[in-house]
Amino acid sequence: MRILIAFGTRPEIIKLGPVYRALHKSGAHVDVFWSGQHIDLADGLLELFEIELTHSGTGVMQEPSLAGKFALITQQMQALLGPQQYDGVVVQGDTMTAAAGALAAFLNHVPVAHVEAGLRTGKLDSPWPEEFNRRLITIASTLHFAPTERSRDHLLREGVQSDLISVVGNTAVDALLYARSKLAGGYVPIDREIANLPRDRKLVLATLHRRENIGAPLDEILEALCELGNDGDKLIVLPVHPNPDIRAQVVRALGARPNIRLLKPLQYTDFVYLLSRSWTVVTDSGGVQEEAPTFGLQILITRESTERPEVVDAGFGTLVGSNRDAITAGVRRLTSSNAPQLLPARNPFGDGQAARRIAERIFSLRPLQQAAE
Ligand code: UDP
Repeated sequence: MRILIAFGTRPEIIKLGPVYRALHKSGAHVDVFWSGQHIDLADGLLELFEIELTHSGTGVMQEPSLAGKFALITQQMQALLGPQQYDGVVVQGDTMTAAAGALAAFLNHVPVAHVEAGLRTGKLDSPWPEEFNRRLITIASTLHFAPTERSRDHLLREGVQSDLISVVGNTAVDALLYARSKLAGGYVPIDREIANLPRDRKLVLATLHRRENIGAPLDEILEALCELGNDGDKLIVLPVHPNPDIRAQVVRALGARPNIRLLKPLQYTDFVYLLSRSWTVVTDSGGVQEEAPTFGLQILITRESTERPEVVDAGFGTLVGSNRDAITAGVRRLTSSNAPQLLPARNPFGDGQAARRIAERIFSLRPLQQAAE
């Protein structure tokens, strides 16, 4: 069986790393197309998951428009999808790479397996393409790997055939457990600042990268962090996303403030190490919402809504939007005792076995394809 995995951003590498490994272990020949959308955030990830890139795209980072990125990736994927070359293409999530990769495969009659299928915000009128990408990928896919029952329901409501949907959990949990296993036995963080964080402070991790928050909402979130820094018992640690608009706003508001550390984006194992030491997280990241429950962490989500409502329902997440008082009150509540207030509940996004289930199911692609012929 020959599989092509297509990815282009940090979260995709993290979430497809375990799938790559599981497919390999099952004996598949796995090629990888890397579009390079997040070329500046991939440090250490390929090595961690022992991923060998077979094909690297060019020019995607430099292309300013979304349509231009989409066209470039589609074209570069097209060059790889010659007749009979692959039994399947695997994509993940909702990025331009995933959408363009799925479309290119569909147009070449190569079955698509979509990892993290069925997430929905219900908002197609957003200026950002993620919801459109999710729906496009669903239409182009043959196998749909839903992380939860809720995502399965979304797919069923859109008319996807039930036997083509598998609820497998989210591979973010597989990746996290894999990375966490590397922390055992005295992990020395790669980032020197992380290695030297004081032990006598309550660590509050923050990650902020949503484009919808840029401007006034992000300013209010940053004011809240600034106020929390003044409390004195906490240390706010914020790896700053390289998006120049975000970076400029964060540095302007939080540079040289007491008890706030602005860091470069962290390598994944350092980030996981930091999660393991944190008391709470203030975040707009999708991946962090899936990871935090494995550590029992209660987090504050700086968004008005989430396409991962399971984290809220399970009691791990609270939506605070950009409300300064909700953020400061939430963080103070979660740092008010002498030890982190961890929830002993299970992670609603799975048990870390998603990639194995996905690999097993992908091996059923060939009979599916034959039946269709
Ligand atoms: N992450 C990382 N280093 C950092 C910040 C985040 O490795 O400095 C990881 C994090 O563990 C998670 C993923 O990056 O798995 C989340 O990426 P991001 O928030 O950029 O994207 P999203 O998940 O919102 O699509």
